[in-house]
Amino acid sequence: MRAPEQSPHSKPPLLVVGAGLAGCEAAWQAAEAGLDVVLVEMKPVERSPAHTIGDFAELVCSNSLRAAGTANAVGLLKEEMRRLDSLTLRVADETAVPAGRALAVDRLAFSRGITDAVQSHPRIRVEVRRVDAIPDDPLVVLATGPLTAAVLARDLQRLLGEEHLYFYDAISPIVYGDSIDSNVAFRASRWEDGEGDYLNVPLDREQYQGFTSALLEAEQVPLHPFEAGLYFEGCLPIEEMARRGPETLAYGPMKPVGLVDPRTGERPYAVLQLRQEDERGVLYNLVGCQTKLRVREQQRVFRSLPGLGEAVFARYGSVHRNTFVNAPLRLAADLEVRARPGLRIAGQLAGVEGYVESAALGLLAGIFSVFAARGAAPPLPPETTALGALLHHLQRAVPGRFQPMNVNFGLFPPLAGAERLRKPEKYARLAARALDDLAGYRKAIEGECA
Ligand SMILES: Cc1cc2nc3c(=O)[nH]c(=O)nc-3n(C[C@H](O)[C@H](O)[C@H](O)COP(=O)(O)OP(=O)(O)OC[C@H]3O[C@@H](n4cnc5c(N)ncnc54)[C@H](O)[C@@H]3O)c2cc1C
Repeated sequence: MRAPEQSPHSKPPLLVVGAGLAGCEAAWQAAEAGLDVVLVEMKPVERSPAHTIGDFAELVCSNSLRAAGTANAVGLLKEEMRRLDSLTLRVADETAVPAGRALAVDRLAFSRGITDAVQSHPRIRVEVRRVDAIPDDPLVVLATGPLTAAVLARDLQRLLGEEHLYFYDAISPIVYGDSIDSNVAFRASRWEDGEGDYLNVPLDREQYQGFTSALLEAEQVPLHPFEAGLYFEGCLPIEEMARRGPETLAYGPMKPVGLVDPRTGERPYAVLQLRQEDERGVLYNLVGCQTKLRVREQQRVFRSLPGLGEAVFARYGSVHRNTFVNAPLRLAADLEVRARPGLRIAGQLAGVEGYVESAALGLLAGIFSVFAARGAAPPLPPETTALGALLHHLQRAVPGRFQPMNVNFGLFPPLAGAERLRKPEKYARLAARALDDLAGYRKAIEGECA
C-alpha cells in the first residue's frame, strides 16, 4: 500500500507488540500506508529461551524460508507477499544465499536489514520494554510469537479463556487424500456399519511389528533445553508411545477394535486411522501420529505403512513448545480478537507455523489495522490466494482439534475440471489463479487507502 502525502497524525498510533517476523511486517505495512506506529520489543533487555541476538525478526533456527518457486505453496505465498511490498521478502531477497530451489538468507544480515528498515522509518517509533498485559490502546497487533513472555501469556489466557490458549503443539502429519492407495485403505468409522468417516490402513502382525521397529530406530529432532518436561500423557509422540512396549500402539492409537477390513471380513491386527482434515476432503491427518521424528524419517517410516507408499505430505508432524490461540473460536476473519475489538493477533501466536506464514499474517494484520483506523471494514484476500487460504483455514478449522498449520495447496479451493491433472500442472494452475486474484486484491486495498 502507498502512503498518502500527509500522515494522519490526528489518529492514535497502531501499537505493535513483538518485533519478530510478524510484528516487523505489520508495523512496516501500517507505516507505509500512513499510520503512525509504536513497535514494542523486549529484546535485548529480555530474551526468550530461543532468541540470542539483539536485532529484530530473528530466525531462531534454520536460515531457510523454504521453497522458492510458485510450484510450491510456500513459494507462492512469498510471491504474493512480494507483490504486496513485503519488507520481509524485500530484505530476504537482498540477503539471500545460494540454496538450490529454496530461499535461504544470511540470518544476521537479514535481521540487521529488517531492523534498519524499521528503526529508520519516519512513522515507526521503537520502544524497548516487556509488555505484561494486553494493552488497552484502540488499535493493537499482538505478535509476541511462540515463546510469548509468560506474564503476557497469562493475561492473554485470561482474555481468551484458559482452554483457548495453548502452550505446546502436538501435530500429526497430514497427507493428501489422493496419494493414499484406495485399494488398501478402507472407509469406516469404529463400530459403525457402512461407509464411515475415516480412512483406515489395516496392518497384520508382521506389518505392525515392522512399523514399530522403524519408529524406534528412526532419528528424532532433539528437544531444546527449554522444552524439558514438554510431553504430556495425552500427547506423547508416537515413537515415545512405541518405546513403552511392543503392544502399546496396538492398544492405543492403532487399536483395531470396532473395525473390519471389508476385503478380508476380519478385524486387522492394528489400524492406522486417517481423519479428514479440511471441509473439502483433500487432506487427511494421521490420527495419533504426533511425532518428533526428523522430516526424512517421517517420510521413510510412514511411507512404509501399507497404502501409504506414495503418500504426499502436506504437513509434517511435530511436538513443540508453542503458544497459540484457538483461532477458529477466538479470532474473526480479519484476525481481530472477537472479545476485544481493535486487538489483532498475528504470527505464530495466531495459529500458523513457520517464518513465512508468521510474516504473512503480520502483513495482513498491518493492512487490516490500516482499514480499522479509518473506520472501514478491511477487504480479505480471496481464498484462492495463499494469503486467503491461510486465513480461511484459521476460520474454518475444527476448533476442538485446532493445531498450527503451514501453508499448502490442500488449503486452496479446488480448480474446476482439474481432477485428472498431474500435480505439477495442477499447482501451476492454482498459482496462476492465485496471482491473478491477488492483483484484484491489491487494487482493492490501494483504492481504499490512497
Ligand atoms: C525453537 C524454535 C525453532 C523454530 N524453527 C523454525 C524454523 O526453522 N523454520 C520456520 O519456518 N519456523 C521455525 N519456528 C517457528 C516460527 O515460525 C518462528 O518462531 C517465527 O519466528 C514466528 O514468528 P513470530 O513473529 O510469530 O514470532 P517471533 O519471531 O518469535 O517474534 C516475537 C517477538 O516478540 C518478542 N516478545 C515476546 N514476548 C514479549 C513481550 N511480553 N513484550 C515484548 N516483546 C515480546 C520476542 O522477543 C520476539 O522478538 C521455530 C520456533 C521455535 C520456537
